[in-house]
Amino acid sequence: MRRPRDSESFKEYNFVLNYQKSEAEIFKLKGNLQKVALIFPNSYKIASGSLAWSWIQNLLTKNNLNVQRFFYEDWFSKFYSLEEQVPIDEFQIWLFTFQFENDLINIARMLKKKGIPLSFQQRESYHPIIIIGGPVTLFNHRIVEDIADFVFIGDLECCSNQFSEALSLDNKEEIENNLLKIPQIYSKKYRKTNYENCIGNLSPIPMAHYITPHSPFKNKLLIEIGRGCIRRCAFCVTGYTKKPVKFAKLDDFIETLDRFKHHEFGLISATITDYPYLDELLDYIENNEIRFSVSSMRVDKVNEKLLKLLRITDHHSFTVAPEGISQKMRDIMLKDLSTEQIVKGLEIGRKVGFENVKFYYIIGLEEETEEDYKELIEFLNQVLKLGYKEVSVSINPLVPKLSTPFANRKMIDKKEYEKRTAYIKKSVPKGVKLNFESYKSMKIQYEISHLNGNESIRYVQEKFEE
Ligand code: SF4
Repeated sequence: MRRPRDSESFKEYNFVLNYQKSEAEIFKLKGNLQKVALIFPNSYKIASGSLAWSWIQNLLTKNNLNVQRFFYEDWFSKFYSLEEQVPIDEFQIWLFTFQFENDLINIARMLKKKGIPLSFQQRESYHPIIIIGGPVTLFNHRIVEDIADFVFIGDLECCSNQFSEALSLDNKEEIENNLLKIPQIYSKKYRKTNYENCIGNLSPIPMAHYITPHSPFKNKLLIEIGRGCIRRCAFCVTGYTKKPVKFAKLDDFIETLDRFKHHEFGLISATITDYPYLDELLDYIENNEIRFSVSSMRVDKVNEKLLKLLRITDHHSFTVAPEGISQKMRDIMLKDLSTEQIVKGLEIGRKVGFENVKFYYIIGLEEETEEDYKELIEFLNQVLKLGYKEVSVSINPLVPKLSTPFANRKMIDKKEYEKRTAYIKKSVPKGVKLNFESYKSMKIQYEISHLNGNESIRYVQEKFEE
């Protein structure tokens, strides 16, 4: 790639290049056909923690597409690809992976910065084809129906060959006509409103093709062990949109661990503790001294072996998500988790040597009373008595989501949220660290998750003006 001449572009080019240099390749991906921009509309750090960013590239490159990854920073203007530092203007196909609602603002900003009208109705034939897929489109594809030329709903594994073949064509009209034949494509622009969702199976096992120290998983090789969740917590879209749940086969999984055993692994799943072959997997990990961390686990299902093995890697802290501040609230949230089960898990954590513990809670439901908050404080006192030296508590307001039993609830207003958080601040025992999620950002998440059609365009335009 030619180096940019002006200093601003050079700074951006170097910024991207440094991230590219930080990546150690596990295996090479190289395609020679059509160039496709795979965009994660957030920072490199967030993007590199997502297995999807690498795995989509892997699936499409297998069909010989030249897929290059992009990420987003507010100050970018050119947007260079990671692989070859090619400016995004040179790509005819832009494929966004829409993982978090708030990224809608970055998608819109990026289009605006590149002079591309937000609405498909105002775009011309010389503009790139905009395709948006990812977990957000799975629970509300209408958020981006007026922005995307095509919305992809579901998992790419289900149609990766057909999708790649469509993208590999040279002529824009041919590409679009072929995309419309794919069952998982929805397009308001072309009035294709029938679509089929499909959850891909995990064979071959999805894994990243690189590691980087900048990822939240720090140089760990990401491998997907399960997709979807067998549970149905009332606030969580994963439990309602990703069914039937798919798990990696134990033999395939062990074979992959064995092939790359000089690496540390980040095992990705909604909850590793629901993996049906967990005991056998842990035996293998223990016998082969494999180091790993997990994206999430249920405290009622942890056992001594799992926690011991996690601690060997780099887990200084044990993370627990009771979500509800009391038993009553957990029951309302369909969390299916008792205080006794949480305490038992915490005792095992102490037994294997954890000294720090982090809790995640959701507050702001209309059923909450002072009694529920008192139960939280009582519980935190109990945790300190177990001997944990550092207890961190993260508090988030409930964001009611479509496709869940909480879909028709309203989000708590800011004043009431502040009243409830003030109570927590004044009541938590000494030694407990509190972290409150920004109300503003969660409110944006709530608003975006409920947008439809051209409301989204109006919404992001208002955000640009703020
Ligand atoms: S909160 Fe966790 S356990 Fe509950 S449905 Fe979602 S992913 Fe599953």
